Amino acid sequence: MKFTAVTIFPEYFAPLNLSLIGKAIEREALSFETIDLREFATGNHRSVDDSPYGGGAGMVMSPEPWGAAIDNVLAKNEGEIDLIFPTPAGKVFNQRIAESLSNSNHLVFACGRYEGIDARVVEFYRTNPRIRLHEISIGDYVINGGEGATLVMIEAIARLIPGVIGNPESLLEESHNEIGELEYPVYTKPATWRGLPVPEVLLSGNHGAIENWRKEAARKRKEGQDRRE
Ligand code: SAM
Repeated sequence: MKFTAVTIFPEYFAPLNLSLIGKAIEREALSFETIDLREFATGNHRSVDDSPYGGGAGMVMSPEPWGAAIDNVLAKNEGEIDLIFPTPAGKVFNQRIAESLSNSNHLVFACGRYEGIDARVVEFYRTNPRIRLHEISIGDYVINGGEGATLVMIEAIARLIPGVIGNPESLLEESHNEIGELEYPVYTKPATWRGLPVPEVLLSGNHGAIENWRKEAARKRKEGQDRRE
């Protein structure tokens, strides 16, 4: 699986060299590249934004550098790509979307800044037969740029790719599975910490009882979450 992020801040993605994803990149279980949008900007200042038609605050990312950068991705790669536009106006990201995107061969993230990207860019590429286009939000709030949203999505998607997580069994019992369950609370040594004991059943060695306790604890967590909603 290949990940590409088109951005004006390539250095934003340095944390991907750390931890599990960094190791997976080293092992070539996945690859990651950034493309600097400014390299596709023309003019003395390599400007990538302009004032909004119709007036209003802020600047809008110009369609020309975006068109040139995405055309370049298409020219340099064969086959289909999933082109993702992180946007607070998109479909809200969740574990099902992460699972579906983890089956892609090539995910390309178009990281917007300022007031966002000229809307014609999405309109233009939506009908390209080599592109599956997705507009995705990471939640109902606004952050400064698509880079943070892209990091979140890459973290969620990459760990589902075979060979990225050391022990794939740890994915089986995780929160937000197909039926929307949450994982049970987890504990480690010491058995008592600051006067708080670990639930006794977990020290019993009785696997049946532990499994029942975990199911019940997960159910209660979910119930608590449902009540908060
Ligand atoms: N003016 C835009 C609006 O109100 O919808 C917000 C623009 S935001 C400051 C700049 C960029 O950050 C967006 O183009 C998008 O790429 C990214 N972004 C901000 N919030 C996001 C979210 N919740 N999910 C995904 N991307 C987001």
